[in-house]
Amino acid sequence: MTGAVEQSKSWFARASAVTPGGVNSPVRAFAAVGGTPRFMVRGEGAYLWDADGNRYVDLVASWGPMILGHAHPEVVEAARTAASSGLSFGTPTSGEVELAEEIVRRVEPVQRVRLVNSGTEATMSAIRLARGFTGRSKIVKFAGCYHGHVDALLAQAGSGVATLGLPTSPGVTGAQAADTLVLPYNDLDAVRAAFAENPDSIAAVITEAAAGNMGAVAPKEGFNAGLRDLAHEHGALLIMDEVMTGFRVSASGWYGREGVAGDLYTFGKVMSGGLPAAAFGGRADVMERLAPTGPVYQAGTLSGNPVAVATGLTTLRLAGESTYRALDANAERLGTLLGGALDAAGVAHTVSYAGNLVGVFFADQPVTDYAGAAASETWRFKPFFHALLDAGVYPPPSAFEAWFVNAAMDDAAFEIIEAALPGAAEAAAKAERP
Ligand code: PLP
Repeated sequence: MTGAVEQSKSWFARASAVTPGGVNSPVRAFAAVGGTPRFMVRGEGAYLWDADGNRYVDLVASWGPMILGHAHPEVVEAARTAASSGLSFGTPTSGEVELAEEIVRRVEPVQRVRLVNSGTEATMSAIRLARGFTGRSKIVKFAGCYHGHVDALLAQAGSGVATLGLPTSPGVTGAQAADTLVLPYNDLDAVRAAFAENPDSIAAVITEAAAGNMGAVAPKEGFNAGLRDLAHEHGALLIMDEVMTGFRVSASGWYGREGVAGDLYTFGKVMSGGLPAAAFGGRADVMERLAPTGPVYQAGTLSGNPVAVATGLTTLRLAGESTYRALDANAERLGTLLGGALDAAGVAHTVSYAGNLVGVFFADQPVTDYAGAAASETWRFKPFFHALLDAGVYPPPSAFEAWFVNAAMDDAAFEIIEAALPGAAEAAAKAERP
């Protein structure tokens, strides 16, 4: 069991006096689960330590990037070496080329790639490029998919937007919202109808290659291929958002599992090694429309930062077949433990997978879209979460997030999870509908 959280409490009070909600990204505030967000001071392998010295098995992995576990010695050394040669030059560097080459080598449909600083920047740039390339303005996105806090993509978004129950965000103009068509995930008929109703005006369909921001919801067989075919039939591009799945669910990402090629891709998280770096890429003829070869403007002072590039490249070079085998095995082991404990406590649930992203819904039917996720008994999540946290396990603090395993998880980490789960499942069983 974990002990006092006085230090975290005190830091949260100080944080709340100077930062909205005390956090720099909303889900960190524990708004959906209540209680004190833990201020972490250290990570190593499968574990995190908070400011009060409590240790947790980490099932968030910084929301995806840390597939090798925390503070992997070679990744840390790469950061140290790069930093000692200078932090930023504002010129091209060889590391950027090597990281781009590694991405192009891993993801066959990506012929050109541009580095940016966050997944949000990647999706924002990809939709601008798709609009510039096609000369059209409308974008199709799916409810429950999150593509960062891009104005045009916030409507019915997953992740923190779903956690806080926001339909969209004030500050997004009517024009931006009007150019975004939001459709149910996994529903090709809706996409067909949208193309029929909006002839020659849809620039792109953007989708999470496998959805991980409404929990883990894999695309139905044929969904992604259907999106590609419909988009192409109607002169639009398919943007595969692999910010979460890229380089995590296989050496390339969801593409490596399914083989459906998008025209454009967005990446982040794993390819950054934990520092701020992300990328978008795809077909050469589309990407060459970017400045300076083309007229679609996109730029960044710190893009391709040498330290971020070094940690990203080292992470990718270390992430080989054995890493992906370990991630898949750990996801299955986690899902089996989750399902077993909830079964034993008699709680209706579905454990879902999108590759090695794991989700748990308090629903007795498989969840295939956001309406299904939202209709689940999310009120059971809060006591479930807190019982795990108190027992030294750190799950995502929201019912609408995927759980992230890492390759450093060993038997000792799983024993802690296994010991924590029965109490958490009991707490979920006892929860009362509000
Ligand atoms: N796209 C997807 C699928 C994501 O999961 C996220 C973040 O979780 C983003 C885009 C935005 O990335 P970032 O938070 O780096 O801006």
